[in-house]
Amino acid sequence: MEPFVYNATAVRVVFGTGTRATLADEIVRLGRSRAMILATPQQEADARGLGETIGPLFAGLFPGAVMHTPVEVTEAAVAAAKALGADCVVALGGGSTIGLGKAIALRTDLPQIVLPTTYAGSEATSILGQTADGAKTTLRSPKVLPEVILYDVDLTLTLPPRLTAVSGLNAIAHAVEALYAPDRNPVIAMMAEQGIRSLASALPRLAAEPRDAPARADALYGAWLCGTCLNAVGMGLHHKLCHTLGGAFGLPHAETHTIILPHAARYNAPAAPDAMKRVARALGADDDAPQALFDLAQRLGAPTDLRSLGLRETDLDKAAALAVAMPYPNPRPLTEPAIRALLGDAFHGVRPSKATDAEHCHA
Ligand code: NAD
Repeated sequence: MEPFVYNATAVRVVFGTGTRATLADEIVRLGRSRAMILATPQQEADARGLGETIGPLFAGLFPGAVMHTPVEVTEAAVAAAKALGADCVVALGGGSTIGLGKAIALRTDLPQIVLPTTYAGSEATSILGQTADGAKTTLRSPKVLPEVILYDVDLTLTLPPRLTAVSGLNAIAHAVEALYAPDRNPVIAMMAEQGIRSLASALPRLAAEPRDAPARADALYGAWLCGTCLNAVGMGLHHKLCHTLGGAFGLPHAETHTIILPHAARYNAPAAPDAMKRVARALGADDDAPQALFDLAQRLGAPTDLRSLGLRETDLDKAAALAVAMPYPNPRPLTEPAIRALLGDAFHGVRPSKATDAEHCHA
């Protein structure tokens, strides 16, 4: 056993079906009595319905969450919370809505209860991305970690098939990178492997039947495990590349993760053979993890090429330069030509080539 450091986070997790009915109890448990509920405009009706279930604890609704947590929206939400006399926030939605709750908590210290409806995993992290003047910055603070996660499987039944696939693969990406993180540890590795296994088993079932409740439960459980991995250890090339592509070229979050993951895994495979063995095992694949990740995306009907997201081939040189501009830990050293080649494969949707033993020897 190698020595390791493991930091546990203090979060209360309630998982099940119909658990949203316990929201009032959770608010009272926090010693609060006026909840402002957050949602996107698309999930406003669900959020209003949730508010009706908590009676006098419902202070009001802010259905203005949008992608990338723009500071103007946060400021409007903080003003609304003050006007409503809210003493806690409840986020119902995916990473965009949860991000708004975190941004409010950062500025007000209000406690958060989060009801996740996608698999992005933001609910389990102390990480917040925010946009000001068109630039996205990321910070880490214990202030933004939600106090309570209320996972209600029912809330994910309506997640559209494409978002189910790409959001699930977004979650798997957290676990893949956790397995080769420089600060990895055996507890997180166990969670990562099980997170991949749960999602890889659930996603094909959900592609066939989006309202398959047991599959939805497996996927949501996997998403929690993978989100916990994202929070616990440092992410490498894959997350940096996705951040660059999202920030500089406006590519959609979960789709970009889906497309890049097999290629980032392929890039790092020679330097992280044990991690790749665990990924392959969790995917139920015989050997090659990068190919198995690509095949899973294809089987789910998820996008596999950056071209389909509207990126131009002429942008790839700039993306490669940006991706290596700031050094960060990664199992395999980063060189601009190699990253440019990776991006070329991801642009065209090429199935990653198989890792060879010879490469492992050179790692
Ligand atoms: P999202 O929150 O942007 O949701 C996408 C759309 O799907 C929205 O219109 C939403 O209302 C709708 N939707 C969500 N759940 C639904 C459901 N069950 N039924 C019907 N419609 C539903 O998407 P996302 O991928 O969850 O979040 C992406 C954002 O989260 C990005 O900005 C990303 O940077 C951030 N994120 C942050 C972290 C972190 O740790 N800070 C982690 C992961 C993602």
